[in-house]
Parts: sequence; structure tokens; C-alpha cells
Amino acid sequence: MNIHEYQAKAVLGGFGVPVPKGKAAFTVDEAVAAAKELPGPVWVVKAQIHAGGRGKGGGVKVAKSPAEVKTHASSILGMQLKTHQTGPEGQKVRRLLVEEGADIRKELYVGLVIDRGSQRAVLMASSEGGMDIEEVAAKTPEKIHKVVIDPVSGLAAADADDVARKIGVPEASVPQARAILQALYKAFDDTDASLAEINPMILTGDGKVVALDAKIDFDNNALFRHPDIVALRDLDEEDPAEVEASKHDLNYIQLDGDIGCLVNGAGLAMASMDIIKLYGGQPANFLDVGGSATAEKVTEAFKIMLRNPQLKAILVNIFGGIMKCDVIAQGVVAAARQVSLGVPLVVRLEGTNVELGKKILAESGLPIISGNNMADAAQKVVAAAKGKN
Ligand code: ADP
Ligand code: MG
Repeated sequence: MNIHEYQAKAVLGGFGVPVPKGKAAFTVDEAVAAAKELPGPVWVVKAQIHAGGRGKGGGVKVAKSPAEVKTHASSILGMQLKTHQTGPEGQKVRRLLVEEGADIRKELYVGLVIDRGSQRAVLMASSEGGMDIEEVAAKTPEKIHKVVIDPVSGLAAADADDVARKIGVPEASVPQARAILQALYKAFDDTDASLAEINPMILTGDGKVVALDAKIDFDNNALFRHPDIVALRDLDEEDPAEVEASKHDLNYIQLDGDIGCLVNGAGLAMASMDIIKLYGGQPANFLDVGGSATAEKVTEAFKIMLRNPQLKAILVNIFGGIMKCDVIAQGVVAAARQVSLGVPLVVRLEGTNVELGKKILAESGLPIISGNNMADAAQKVVAAAKGKN
């Protein structure tokens, strides 16, 4: 789960990371009121969306007066902000962060992620922070310093100091940088984050170290331990189909192809998407209905897939293990009747009670195309999507 910059700054601030004074605003009036409560004389108006690259996309603007805050807030609020992380359609700005302008001497980068190779948290840091960190990572990876963190002892002071010096923090500011890095690690660890990033972490004209931007991603599987973080969820930032799916406990990811996939088990779902691509098709979604899907759940899954205007055909690929084929067949028939399917439906069933399942489908009178195996089903659905059936 992702949160906004102002929320991430509040989380990190709670762990002792210094952040600029700032306030979230949902309207232009609130933005002006926020500016008046902050010291000035320089303010920064920042679009709050769950994507980076806002600065380059025109979502971060400096203001020299509350009147200018008003002008910027009016233009940014409601805009469709396009950044390299939003995709071409952009993301609508519904919230702002108004904060005091910082006196930036140098922009640095620090971030923590889980490294699957070492199975540990890794601190990454660079002297080249700011808006081009992706380019630094791609073109000059030697400028990114890494520390693998021992989960028992945490981020050692000596390692934090060493990294701070490597990214050019002056000696007098090293203790501050150490405190920030250790607080960042504590926040990452305590909140079960999968990513925590400060870009830029700045050195100010008077030698202070401050987090000027903040991004945290949390591990969804650990959210049950953090109701305070769940409360920060902003559904406006999530794909509506995925939000609907999560209400029904369906694992659904929207993709940009035209073949809907309804599968039980994440591994089989991945394999189904692969084989669709192998035969020249493009999956419209990833959907794992899980091992305990009921007819109601399957119906909801169909409804979610059918909302996609791109959809041209659906593949149901079920391996009946815990889930029995006849149960899924009943679900498919009930769902197909309820949602008035407007696209071809290919079903491949295998496993427990498969004969009974196939019988239910055949006797339903619905125009269901039966796949004999995965390859056959994939070829049939790709052909159906291309209108060759
Ligand atoms: P993004 O990463 O989405 O582009 P940032 O929050 O990093 O957004 O802001 C982009 C740039 O804007 C920063 O690299 C920094 O140069 C400038 N900036 C952001 N916040 C402030 C601030 N409070 N004071 C001065 N400059 C700022
Ligand atoms: Mg940034």
C-alpha cells in the first residue's frame, strides 16, 4: 500500500526524521490558510498523488507570497498531472501539501528496500539525489552506495556514518545524517514497509539535513498489524477495478490487453497469461480467485472483468484441487446468466470432478467454448478475441 508524501512525512517525522513545516490542503482556501500559518517568506505548493516525478511534471511550484500560493494551488488542484510514473493518462490532483521553502545547498538520495538476493533490507544512498535519480542508477550505478542491514542489530552507527561521508555529507553534519538514516530504518522496520525513500534528502545552507520528499510503500500482508497506516489509504489513487476486487477478496490486477483471465491460484494465473501471450494474445488482467471461490465470488470476478471496455474474450482456467470443478462450473454458469456475457467465453477445467463440471457447462445451454487443455484453451481464446471464431 502506498501513501501520500505528506502522510509519509508525518510517519517519518514520528520516528524523528526532520521534515519541513507543512500542511495538507484539499481546497485552494485551505492552501492559502496553510501558507499563512507557515513562516515563509517562501512556500512550496506540492501536488499529492501516488507517483513520483511531480517536480518535472509541473506539480511542485515555489511561491513567494500567499497570493502566489493561491495561484499555484488553483492551477495544480484538479489538474491531470502526468509524470513518468503515472502513465500517459496522468493522475488527477485532489490534495496539496503546502510547506515552507527550504534553502537547498545539495540534494542527496537515500532509500531502503528489501533485497531478495540477500533477503535483507538494503540502504541505498547517493550524492546525486533529486529529480534524476533513475538516470543516475541506470548510467552511473557506481554513484549508488549500498549497505546490507543485519535484521538483528539494525543499521549500525558506523555504517550510517560511512554512507553519509560517501555521499558527501560534511563532517559537521554526519551525526544528523546518521540520526536520519537510523530513524528511516526504524520506521521501515517498525511499519513493515517494503520501500522507504527520501529523495531529496537535502543539506541546507546552514548545515542541516532535512527530508524534502518522502515515499513509503507498505507490505500489504502486514497491514493487519497497522490499523493507523491502513487509515491513510486513499482509494482515489487506486484502480477502481482493483478496489472493487479487494472488497471481494479477489487478487486482481488490471492490465492493458483484451483477454480477461479468471484462474484459481496465482501460479496458474501467471502461466495462463504467459500462454495467452505465447499464442499472440494480450491479457486484460491478472485474476486469482483463490482456492475457496464461491459462485458469488466468481460472479463478482466476471462483473469486474466485464467493466473493462477493452475486453474481447474471457478465459476461465481452473485446476480443481481443493476447489472442485463442478463448483466452479456452477459459478461460471450462474455468473454468465447474471451478467449477460457479451464476449466469447472459453473454459478449461481439469482436476477433481472434472466430468461433472464439463457436464454442467454443456447442459447450461450457454455458448461456452470448451478448452481441452491449456494450449488448446489459450489458442481458442486468442482466436475468439481476434474475432476468428
Ligand atoms: P518529485 O520527486 O515527485 O518530483 P519532490 O518532492 O522531490 O517531488 O520535489 C521535486 C523538487 O522540488 C525537489 O527535488 C526540490 O528541488 C524541490 N522542492 C521540493 N520541496 C521543496 C521545498 N519544501 N523547498 C524547496 N524546494 C523544494
Ligand atoms: Mg522526490
